[in-house]
Amino acid sequence: MKIKVLPPALQNQIAAGEVVENPASVLKELVENSLDAGATQVEVQAEQGGIKLLEVVDNGLGIAESDLELAVTRHATSKISSFADLLSISSYGFRGEALPSIASVSRFSLSSRPKEQKLGFELNLEFGQILSQKPVPMNPGTKVRVEDLFANVPARLKFLKRPSTEKKRLVQTFFKQALPHSKTGFSLRVEGQELISFYPHTTILDRLKEIWPEKILQSLVELNFEREELKVRGLTSLPTSVQTRSDRILLYVNNRPIVDKLLLGAIKSAYEGKILRNEFPQVVLLLEVEPSLVDVNVHPAKLEVRFAQEELVFKTVRQAILQALDQNKTYSFAPPTPNKQNSFYANPNKVSTKVCIPKPTDSLLPKQSVAPLAYHSNHPKESASQEVKEAVLAQSQVLPNADFVYLGQIDKTYLLIKQGEHFFILDQHVVHERILFSKLQAKTCPQKLLLMPLKHKLSREEEHTLDKLWLELKQLGFGLKRVGQNILEIRAVPELLGSNSALEFLQEVLAGHVNQKEELLKRLACKGSIKAGTELTVDEAVRLILDWQRTPHKEFCPHGRPTVIALDKKTLIPLFKRTS
Ligand code: ADP
Ligand code: MG
Repeated sequence: MKIKVLPPALQNQIAAGEVVENPASVLKELVENSLDAGATQVEVQAEQGGIKLLEVVDNGLGIAESDLELAVTRHATSKISSFADLLSISSYGFRGEALPSIASVSRFSLSSRPKEQKLGFELNLEFGQILSQKPVPMNPGTKVRVEDLFANVPARLKFLKRPSTEKKRLVQTFFKQALPHSKTGFSLRVEGQELISFYPHTTILDRLKEIWPEKILQSLVELNFEREELKVRGLTSLPTSVQTRSDRILLYVNNRPIVDKLLLGAIKSAYEGKILRNEFPQVVLLLEVEPSLVDVNVHPAKLEVRFAQEELVFKTVRQAILQALDQNKTYSFAPPTPNKQNSFYANPNKVSTKVCIPKPTDSLLPKQSVAPLAYHSNHPKESASQEVKEAVLAQSQVLPNADFVYLGQIDKTYLLIKQGEHFFILDQHVVHERILFSKLQAKTCPQKLLLMPLKHKLSREEEHTLDKLWLELKQLGFGLKRVGQNILEIRAVPELLGSNSALEFLQEVLAGHVNQKEELLKRLACKGSIKAGTELTVDEAVRLILDWQRTPHKEFCPHGRPTVIALDKKTLIPLFKRTS
């Protein structure tokens, strides 16, 4: 076969295969062109989800009559002129491919009038062939009409979804594209109906109101952070507002909407331990980077970028979010002054036998306070001996004056407290889990020797798992020995676990359910903590709360569940259907 250069119309149709996927991608290219032309108003109309008609009108710089044909010629652009320009791109377009590609697969018209021209000129094409060019009266700016998309490429037409689905994509693309351009006004009409209208000079938050539910908007806090050449702006949700899909995470680099695993990873890492694994926050992240430090020429539809300093970008975005969340905590718990606090509930299996009775003069509860609701034990037989009580009594003198009032236990699971004007509900299990996790991270766990060592026959797979985690398990307090070929002898278990839960934990580990140190600690903390449904005495509860107050990252358990919920005005007003 002889090698030949393909005719321009075919070249354009091939390029269209990459750039033009559906009406939404056409819209994206046209809006980018309007923004590059400095438009302060962009108006979009669509019919049948943009398949029948897509029209974009702007008030930007316009195209001179003599340049109209060039605008629909492949690799013709006004935006870059040298290789150096390509390395530092500050416009949205730069390849000179969009208009010729779109024109090659539709009935296309481009009308434009620069301010200096008295009249505009309109260029008409059908499936890439120029039909006519004629003068038209119009306001300064540019109008692009794209009709019957893919009418000449039935194979591509087949891949389009129903008009209603294409319409949804169109709306999403429009919204995402327009959102950060606060100075520019935008409107979108579909089938003659106005769907979105952004006035010029409105904030991102104002614009989000058109699409995102009020409840989410209320949970957003501002991002504003700078480090070296990077600036992070935008909005991010408090960990109390989450969803199971990542569709409300909008990423921008220099106002260009992108998809990016690195940025998504940085966001996930900032929320780690604050939300669950399968949950996502709501974020509008605007990253400003020196154009020479980001390569935008890596994806045909310019949806991805490559950063020169990936690590710096990751750290900066993470830090920006952490800082915003930290400055906007919904509640604050002042930690009491440090003291020689001992943990009285270190052994959860015996929790109900550890009774601490503070001296009456040293009461943890202010005198006029509400009587403690849960100060009755259902386990009188298990109450501590006189000896234990006395020892405990001596220790209670070193307790600080608590700065909260403990009101009681709900459903043997939740602890209700009042601090100042605020009420809080804690989940005793996750509160204890967080405390244990922090302690385990800080030091090795003490051992408890078993009276009778236990033997366990290891399978091949278990042997393999055990070899990998041997050191970690020892650090956690397991006394382990290999006797014979495949027998494991268990001589000691971590002190904070009862023997049964220690063995259960070990079995889970051997079954390969846990394989990282961090995961081991989380499992151990979970296994070792007070279960829901365990009755606590007032003192056990108070000590648990005091210990929790001193624990870092106390608002969330290691898996990201909240430990505390504030019963404040914001929560109560809607429950009582009040307006204020
Ligand atoms: P690129 O944007 O990569 O340059 P396009 O094919 O999208 O390529 O556009 C080709 C050229 O047409 C642009 O470089 C620009 O000069 C001109 N152009 C396109 N749309 C507009 C517009 N809305 N206003 C002014 N000029 C435009
Ligand atoms: Mg372009």
